[in-house]
Amino acid sequence: MVSDKVRAIIAALQEAVLPTRCLVCKAFLKNKQQKNLSRDFHDGSSFDCRNRLSFQNLMTGFLCPTCMKGFIPVEPPICPMCGIMFKSREGEDHVCGECLTSPKKFRISRSPGIYDKEFMAVIHCLKYKGKIQLTRPLGMLLFSAFINFWDINSVDIIVPVPLHIKRFRKRGFNQAYLLVRDWKRIAEKLNIGLSNIRIDTNVLTRSRWTDPQTGLNRKKRMINIKNAFSVSDQTTIKNKRILLVDDVYTTGATANECAKALLRGKAEYVDVLTLARAM
Ligand SMILES: [Zn+2]
Ligand SMILES: [Zn+2]
Repeated sequence: MVSDKVRAIIAALQEAVLPTRCLVCKAFLKNKQQKNLSRDFHDGSSFDCRNRLSFQNLMTGFLCPTCMKGFIPVEPPICPMCGIMFKSREGEDHVCGECLTSPKKFRISRSPGIYDKEFMAVIHCLKYKGKIQLTRPLGMLLFSAFINFWDINSVDIIVPVPLHIKRFRKRGFNQAYLLVRDWKRIAEKLNIGLSNIRIDTNVLTRSRWTDPQTGLNRKKRMINIKNAFSVSDQTTIKNKRILLVDDVYTTGATANECAKALLRGKAEYVDVLTLARAM
């Protein structure tokens, strides 16, 4: 006889591994979705990140069909520098006004999706509701974007944007790090040589406490984040090519400040990859 207590524990464990409800809207997920999840993630054979991964494939088992529909992929034409997607789907890629008037410290920035609607809700679930099960599919989405946008031989070190120690303690995790934590394992499974790339969570530190950027305009964001980052050990990044990783690119103020600190530490260049890009 299985006691109610044991049954409750089993249910909680199943919930942790395979959510029975959509992580965003709490709608019940159908069994079929969970089977797809098992096939795609526990076997791994059907996953080929060289093909553009559909958000739907990755999120099956985590989100309901309605919440998956709101994902908008970043598509050309974009700004080749900051990666912003232009509203019109016509024409060629071209440098945006913002990059012309205030050039960024980083070389390029790219993101797989637009920071809007359900995708915003998904990222908030991870960040503010601690649904860290999402780091698995979201990490794959980010890895797939990396493989699509970069030559893997053009990066030496991956640096997740750090949190201030006070915020890290409160949240319990750094979402930027969680998004790249499994990359080596994913790459190995896919026979992609990532062994020359190192993930470094120490070299860049958030030395100054800053209020959340949410709700601030572009100018205030820039002032708020100014000189918030520093490099702890210059020797580890000197002449290295850095890929800075974060969850969201809003105005680029944070990425720019990080790049500034890394370049001061003599990094060769800094590129930026985020999950989502504000329009
Ligand atoms: Zn949903
Ligand atoms: Zn631009």
